[in-house]
Amino acid sequence: ENGVAEGTPASPFPQPVKVQGIRHTKIFIDNEWNTSSRGRTFPTFNPATGAKICDVEEADKEDVDKAVKAAKAAMQRSSPWRRMDPSSRGRLLHKLADLMERDRLLLATMETLDTGKPFLQSFFIDLEGSIKTLRYYAGWADKIHGKSVPVDDSFMCLTKHEPVGVCGAIIPWNFPLLMFIWKIAPALSCGNSVVIKPAEQTPLTALHVGALIKEAEFPPGVVNIVPGFGSTAGAAISSHKDIDKVAFTGSTEVGQLITEAAAKSNLKRLTLELGGKNPCMVFADCDLQVAVEETQKGAFYNQGQCCTAASRVFVEESIYEEFVQRSIEHAKKIVIGDPLDPRTSHGPQIDRQQFDKIMDLIESGKKEGARLEYGGEAVGSEKSLFIQPTIFSGVKDHMRIAKEEIFGPVLCIFSFKSQQEAIERANSSQYGLVSAVFTTSMDRALSVSSALETGTVWINCYNALHAQTPFGGYKMSGNGRELGEYALAEYSEVKTVTIKLRDTI
Ligand code: NAD
Repeated sequence: ENGVAEGTPASPFPQPVKVQGIRHTKIFIDNEWNTSSRGRTFPTFNPATGAKICDVEEADKEDVDKAVKAAKAAMQRSSPWRRMDPSSRGRLLHKLADLMERDRLLLATMETLDTGKPFLQSFFIDLEGSIKTLRYYAGWADKIHGKSVPVDDSFMCLTKHEPVGVCGAIIPWNFPLLMFIWKIAPALSCGNSVVIKPAEQTPLTALHVGALIKEAEFPPGVVNIVPGFGSTAGAAISSHKDIDKVAFTGSTEVGQLITEAAAKSNLKRLTLELGGKNPCMVFADCDLQVAVEETQKGAFYNQGQCCTAASRVFVEESIYEEFVQRSIEHAKKIVIGDPLDPRTSHGPQIDRQQFDKIMDLIESGKKEGARLEYGGEAVGSEKSLFIQPTIFSGVKDHMRIAKEEIFGPVLCIFSFKSQQEAIERANSSQYGLVSAVFTTSMDRALSVSSALETGTVWINCYNALHAQTPFGGYKMSGNGRELGEYALAEYSEVKTVTIKLRDTI
């Protein structure tokens, strides 16, 4: 049975609900539930127990084709979606947010069952972030406009912002619902239609939101959801000639495959949110407790399965030992356990493949001479996917744990002597997603943040993401920006209309 036992004692915290059977497990096209064209299903598992939650209809190329046809029809000039007033588009997005608020406990429970992330994190971070993002873009729907541009001679020039068309989206398993909303909210706000593929490990909350999209009365074909695998359904999206844009979040390797497929098929527009090897700079003049807590939030949040994971923590020599000791003490407070128990702060990794990769990297850290200060072990039976929060000190730049994205709960602590040296080492990475600076000097915070080659710099905080601010990477961490006003540009085409004026005065 999924969910918690009845009679759970009253708690000041929200409680998971009992999930008796998952209702929505099919392919969502044209506001209808479809079975797989090839007659196939795939199982989705609870990573905390290894138990199968349910089988889901598996979309492949034929299903993607069908979804794209529906999405294309929704974009016809005469369609209800194209003719809808922008303010009504905004109201629909608010309606979807209302329905997600109504089903918030259920969605948070489902997210925890499918990913293993602690329930309170699902409730307060994933659900909160998703609902706020929807409302933020609901507000934009009737405020997306061009300019009038002064030009030489007797012309009047206008720019208009129009939808790109059919937007494909391919999303990962680490934040299944949040990534679903990060993709659909700006796309719909700008008036596009969407074909979206959840990750094969975590299709459930996306499908539930499909039902809410229908209940909110979005016109058919505006959002289509194709659960399936990357090499089949994902590849069908990235190479589809009738998809005008793809937004992807996931690994850098797959980002490169998608870029190739996009280039070869129809040069579709792309936004990519890829990996990171994110540096934190901890200066001797920082508030040490803040630095310890925030870097740990960065390293261990979501069991380290974040593209923003704080994976290289550079600490100034004079406070190095104290930082390491305090980090160990702080890590002891982390509670590993049943993700449905609101007291749990640390759940399992997503699957065996990720678990093995992380354990292999932890072994490599030990072998290459880093000092294991805390954790480093699997927890539970042989089949369990739990890994202790792990702290390495004495990490050197050449080690695998210093260079490869671990995507697991591993905090790597390096020491540095000078600010210049720290900046150079922080920047010597193919990635450039996020970074953080811990200091009480405003001058230092601002000059170091200017020098860091990352799309986001957090000062005395970590993982502080907001719907209003853009998010994206420099270098091989991606292309384009999600969230904020900036994301609107990624979901719009700009049309220049030039009018020849006759001189009538
Ligand atoms: P992935 O990149 O393989 O999968 C992400 C999404 O892409 C999934 O929906 C998957 O089905 C799809 N996909 C896979 N191959 C595809 C293809 N050829 N064409 C189109 N779509 C395809 O990530 P993963 O296997 O789930 O995890 C592997 C590594 O990726 C992790 O260890 C981590 O380093 C990284 N990752 C990064 C993020 C992030 O948020 N940036 C998220 C998840 C994983």
